Amino acid sequence: VESAAVPAHELREEYADLVDKVRKYRHAYYNENTQLVSDAEFDELFARLEELEALHPELVTNDSPTQEVGGEVSAAFSPVKHPSQMYSLEDVFSYEELETWFERARTNSASLAPGVEVKWLTEVKIDGLAVNLIYRDGVLDVAATRGDGTTGEDVTDNVKTIADIPHELKGEGWPAELEVRGEVFIPSKEFEAFNESLIAEGKAPLANPRNAAAGSLRQKDPAQTAKRPLRMFVHGVGAREGMDVESQHEIYAQLEAWGLPVSPYNKLFDTTDEVFAYIDQIGQDRHSLVHEIDGMVIKIDDFQAQRALGYTSRTPRWAVAYKYPPEEVHTDLLEIRVQV
Ligand code: NAD
Repeated sequence: VESAAVPAHELREEYADLVDKVRKYRHAYYNENTQLVSDAEFDELFARLEELEALHPELVTNDSPTQEVGGEVSAAFSPVKHPSQMYSLEDVFSYEELETWFERARTNSASLAPGVEVKWLTEVKIDGLAVNLIYRDGVLDVAATRGDGTTGEDVTDNVKTIADIPHELKGEGWPAELEVRGEVFIPSKEFEAFNESLIAEGKAPLANPRNAAAGSLRQKDPAQTAKRPLRMFVHGVGAREGMDVESQHEIYAQLEAWGLPVSPYNKLFDTTDEVFAYIDQIGQDRHSLVHEIDGMVIKIDDFQAQRALGYTSRTPRWAVAYKYPPEEVHTDLLEIRVQV
């Protein structure tokens, strides 16, 4: 708990230091496909920054990292403006925080979208990198990284080497312009095999699947991307004028029918008890999934409620990311259990 007695100049120093660090770590993460600190350490710094801003709103500047989506557009790629904005997610780190989020979401939905029955679409949080796929008349026209949320990097030729991603949609009925958002990742097994092949060639292995996926997609030469075992699952949509689908789970079904890969781990629940049970279950199975995850994402399923709740400058108010405790803690717990 913050003491009111902390001198103003010390607060400002701590604040400036946090802002500098978050900027530096984000730059390494998004632009260099590497990380200078663990995700848990980064999340802690970011949470402290948010806490300081909540306690001392006078410190907040318009360009604070808490007001921005976080990525950048490297000069190595052509910039692409997204037809509609891409967002990050609000994080929670405990079941108590998640329960508070559920209560707020329920209250907001009841007052802003009365009559909508709130259901919780629960998804795994794939640890990869976001891409925006723009289909025009059913044909993949542009693929971009998230970048700063407004403008991303043109990675169309690289994305076209990913077998999961259709160059043309199947069937019929798609809007003239369709923006599909998904996460590009390297499956855990393929990541291990790929690293072994690097070691066998006398090269340095890649640090983790997320950075490997980001580095693989952001190659200058698409032929290099083609050699990497990249896959993708869809997790959202942007522009979709004329589509009369009214919920997130229905839109996934439609995207799947058009040939896009949808995660097998998505589940729709009526109650938050079921959501917590699923988070527990995935928490126990997390290393047997196809890919690494860094948490779970819970979304209000109904589009009317999503529209009514809207967005902050950085995140949707109708979705939240629950982050599992850092892996070290998991490992320790497992070891303790084994010893017992
Ligand atoms: P985020 O990880 O908080 O969440 C938003 C992103 O999650 C989306 O853009 C999307 O790409 C992805 N996602 C995966 N599965 C999804 C699903 N089912 N539904 C919706 N979205 C899904 O986003 P962020 O703003 O990219 O980054 C913040 C996180 O990245 C931090 O929590 C931190 O762990 C990590 N990070 C680490 C460092 C570091 O130095 N270690 C630096 C910057 C960021």
